Amino acid sequence: MTALRPETAEIQQADVSVDKQGPGLVGLHESIATLLASRGQWRQAYQHLRSALALVHADQGEEPHVPEQLRREVELLRREHAEAREQSLRDSLTDSYNRRYLDQRLMDLVTEHGACRHGLAIALMDLDWFKQVNDTFGHILGDRVLQRVVELLQHGLPEDGFCARYGGEEFVLVLPRVDASRAVEIVEAARERVERHPWQEIAPGLRVTVSAGLAYEPPADEAPERPPVGAEQQLLRADSLLYTAKQSGRNAVAYRADGRVRLAGAAAGRRAVTETRVLGYY
Ligand code: GH3
Ligand code: MG
Ligand code: MG
Repeated sequence: MTALRPETAEIQQADVSVDKQGPGLVGLHESIATLLASRGQWRQAYQHLRSALALVHADQGEEPHVPEQLRREVELLRREHAEAREQSLRDSLTDSYNRRYLDQRLMDLVTEHGACRHGLAIALMDLDWFKQVNDTFGHILGDRVLQRVVELLQHGLPEDGFCARYGGEEFVLVLPRVDASRAVEIVEAARERVERHPWQEIAPGLRVTVSAGLAYEPPADEAPERPPVGAEQQLLRADSLLYTAKQSGRNAVAYRADGRVRLAGAAAGRRAVTETRVLGYY
């Protein structure tokens, strides 16, 4: 029998057992107990476990018919549980994924599949002079800007890609299974979407741009001599490159190619890279 601990794996296990083995009464009681326990409703969870135990001890051979009310109860709990879980992974202001989701996904990408096996791009994006936006137009408008920026950053990402709020006015784009040049194209396109957005429609005189640092890890078989890089280190590299983009005039995407730091797109021709500190590169 499942232990009374609210761990995701156990909850998922309980869900799966109901789905795959059919709605047996013992299984349903157990599922409800697990879901209730995950919400801290220990007393009700215990009662359902007792019901499951009683059924097992009754040794009835065939399980009795599952009452409709119980079936509905488990459905409702499961829906509520899924919604609560989804909410816990979202940022409440922008509805983008939050830091918890980011950490979980990066851990999965790097440990389960090995980020390096497929290639992984991580871009850290930061709004330029955002404090001035707040100071000039107020925090409420600043909040609206953040929401709109997320919509623009998320637009047209590849299927596996996602945007997460890293904190404050910083966001992370994670792009698994893309090659280096495609990653630059995607992040530069996102930067350009923000720059070209008609911000004056929100407030006359408003202008919003973002800067980005893009760190790319190639598939392991393309660079077998390179030591594997963890997600945390890759984020640090993205942060250093972001710093370079800021130092090079902002509204730019900085990335590293052939051992040199470069700026993407139009910025590359317009200005020189101010390379300052790019941590952890060899
Ligand atoms: P830089 O180009 O160097 O990044 O300049 P900046 O002004 O964007 O950077 P700074 O770190 O000085 O300011 C960040 C601002 O972002 C300050 C903070 O009030 C604002 N900010 C962070 N989170 C939120 C939020 O949720 N809503 C609003 N309205 N503002 C936020
Ligand atoms: Mg910042
Ligand atoms: Mg900023």
